[in-house]
Amino acid sequence: MHYRLPHPGQGILGPAPAIYSSQPTTLPSAFSIMPPQDPTWHMDTGASSHLNFNASNLSTIFDKRLFPSVHVGDGKSIPVTNTGHSIIPSHHRPLHLHNVLVTPNIIKNLIFVRQFTRDNNCTIEFDAFGFSVKDYLTRHILLRCDSSGDLYPVTKPSTSPIAFLSTSASTWHQRLGHPGDQVLRSLVSSRFISCNKEKTSHICHACQLGKHVKLPFHSSDSIVEHRFDIIHSDLWTSLIISSSGFKYYVLFLDHFSHYL
Ligand SMILES: [Zn+2]
Repeated sequence: MHYRLPHPGQGILGPAPAIYSSQPTTLPSAFSIMPPQDPTWHMDTGASSHLNFNASNLSTIFDKRLFPSVHVGDGKSIPVTNTGHSIIPSHHRPLHLHNVLVTPNIIKNLIFVRQFTRDNNCTIEFDAFGFSVKDYLTRHILLRCDSSGDLYPVTKPSTSPIAFLSTSASTWHQRLGHPGDQVLRSLVSSRFISCNKEKTSHICHACQLGKHVKLPFHSSDSIVEHRFDIIHSDLWTSLIISSSGFKYYVLFLDHFSHYL
């Protein structure tokens, strides 16, 4: 069992491993001068239990102490006062934190990632901009937290929909390889994707270029002064035979008068 916990007074996670202690030890004097404690949870793959500095942050508290103390990164031991449960709200379903150890001297509240994924049947994907908690089976994003610092804090779900949820049809159109409206509508009706952003009449530039079977006409810079100076002609084939039995058509257009 290893911890990766803050160095006293620095507010960052130290790299040195630590283990549970069966006996509480005297706190070092450094712990008596604590920086203002931040209630934010932080994901920590190195922690071996959920830790929170304040019992009032938990939804359920019981007196039983699973461990009398925990060892932190600098080799010191900090006491455990209570154990309890907590919940992280998400737009889809609450995420449970079971058996949180209340450790008043911890600087950052830590989530034991292994236990979190097990208890909530979810996966966590870390990336350069934050992390996403996803349902293990459906892969739906339950929680997305963006961060720019060195840690992975659990930010509160905003009242406005998160980026994934407020995806417009045109964004899905681009993500899924530019399918037509009919395909997108069937994906929405089958609940594979959700487009709950306001619909805008968006014309896709890439589709216009890539799917059109006719090339665009370039504007002409020819200047004529009389009729019949330039005659444009075009021959085309109709897929449908005309009532007179014709299949081919020739058009002649006078450049000066535009008479066809
Ligand atoms: Zn397109």
